[in-house]
This record gives sequence, structure tokens and C-alpha cells, in this order.
Amino acid sequence: MQELTADILSRVITPRKSHSHKGDYGRLLLIGGNENYGGAIIMATEGAINAGAGLTAVATHLINLTALHSRDPEAMFIDWRDQHLPELIRKMDVIVCGPGLGVNLQAKKVMNILATNVTEKQTVVLDASALDLISQDHQLIPAKGKLVLTPHQMEWQRLSGLRIPFQTDGANLAAFKDLLLGREAILVLKSNQTRIYDLFGHQAINPIGNPGMAIGGSGDTLAGIIGAFIAQFDYSFDTISAAVYLHSLAGDIVYKDNYVVKPTALSKRLPELMKKYC
Ligand code: AMP
Ligand code: MG
Repeated sequence: MQELTADILSRVITPRKSHSHKGDYGRLLLIGGNENYGGAIIMATEGAINAGAGLTAVATHLINLTALHSRDPEAMFIDWRDQHLPELIRKMDVIVCGPGLGVNLQAKKVMNILATNVTEKQTVVLDASALDLISQDHQLIPAKGKLVLTPHQMEWQRLSGLRIPFQTDGANLAAFKDLLLGREAILVLKSNQTRIYDLFGHQAINPIGNPGMAIGGSGDTLAGIIGAFIAQFDYSFDTISAAVYLHSLAGDIVYKDNYVVKPTALSKRLPELMKKYC
């Protein structure tokens, strides 16, 4: 098992070219945030914007509009009941779905719109509620496109059917292959030592991070960072590994002087770290 180091950041993060524009850094759509969990989609958005996504749009419950715009004026908003959502989905490079989405009928409707509109060239990152929804109904896994799944141990247990959360790499990989037969997919199995697997046999473990990061919103922030990295760089094992490593590195910097790592504080450290390692 490859242990990630800061080398992964220098390999993946590249300096921005002077003649570039926002379109060169990817179009990212984040979907989530119901009436009760608006904070989750806002934290995912802050992860994405601070990790450099060129254009970030957010499809969420209308009730989150004011909070989202006042926290993150860089993000565009669409009501997730808007009839133009399918069209917007098809225009994106990367879609992150799940933070604060919930598992009710409205959430299923949104997931179904996503599942049926994603095209071959796009990448979908499924996190949080989106993982629970696909555990209940495999038809909600997008029919096309490349996938990234980011379960924590309990979500992985529900998704994989493995009875205990701490599994050997072999068991995790076998369950992952069963779930996504024939699909291009990368699994980020989150814990205090997050593991990353693809279906070609690449495996990596992230040795950094800290218990200050055990707080609601940590994973939502990571989902946004992963989305931004794929949007800017590429869909690859290394790019996703770099996003995982950067999330923990930023968390470790905050943890040096703080008892807990507020996800919004973690996100603020991302731009300076990306500059340092580009
Ligand atoms: P979630 O449970 O979806 O909010 O995700 C939690 C995030 O915080 C994951 O990226 C974990 O790797 C990270 N995390 C949580 N607890 C710890 C810990 N004790 N040590 C290191 N990282 C942690
Ligand atoms: Mg989570």
C-alpha cells in the first residue's frame, strides 16, 4: 500500500498559465443542502472554491440561497426544483452530489435527474446522502460517466454490505468491484487513515490528518475539494489522492493552534497551500 506524502501535491498541482481563463479550471456543480442541512452544501462549496474550481454552481433548496450567496458570492445558485437543472447538469465537467441532500422523496427526485442526465465525459462524486440513496436503490447510480465514491466507514458498511466497518483491503476492493461492475470508479474510504482504491489495483493510504477533523462538515469539505481538483486537473487516482492529502494537510495546520478544526477554517488554508506546492 502506497503511503501518500507531500510529493503527491507537487505532482498534481500545476502553476496557472498567464493566458488562462476560468473555463480552463473546470465547471463544477454541487448538489445538496435540504431545508435542514444547508450548512453541508455551503461547506462543500467553500472547499471547492478555495481549492480552485474555475466555475462553481450549486443546486440546492431555495431556502439556502441567501446564506450561500452571503458566504460564497463566487458560487452560482439554482433551485434544485428548477426545470433547467437537467440542462445545467449536462453542461458541467464535474458534479458533486450528496452533502446535506437528505434521503427523502425530493432527494431521490434530484438523484434521479442526475442519474439520467450525466454523460460519458463527466465525472460524478457521490458523497454522504447520495451514498445512502444508492445503497437503497442501485438504479440511482448515474448510468454514464466516471465515478468517485467517498464513504466514511458507516456509509461504506451500508453501501458494501460488509458487516463490519474495518475491513481488509482485499474485502473492500472485492465489494467495490461488485458494486460498480465495469464502471470507471475510484473509492475514497474515509477514516483517521483514509484509503483510496481504484479498480486497476492502485491503493494508497493517507497517513496525515488529526482528530480535530472529527466534526460535521469535514467530509463535505473534502467532497468539494475532490470535485475542484478533478475539474482543474484530471480524473485520476493521483489527483484524487492529492485532494485527500491536501484536505488533511490543511487540517493539520489549523490543528496546530486549535483544539478543533472547523471545516470553514480548513478551507481558508487551501489557496496558500496550493500556491506553495504548485
Ligand atoms: P465525514 O465523516 O464524511 O464528515 O468525513 C470526515 C473527514 O474527516 C474525513 O476526510 C476523515 O478522513 C477526516 N477525519 C475524521 N476523523 C479523523 C481523525 N481522527 N483523524 C484524521 N482524519 C479524520
Ligand atoms: Mg460525510
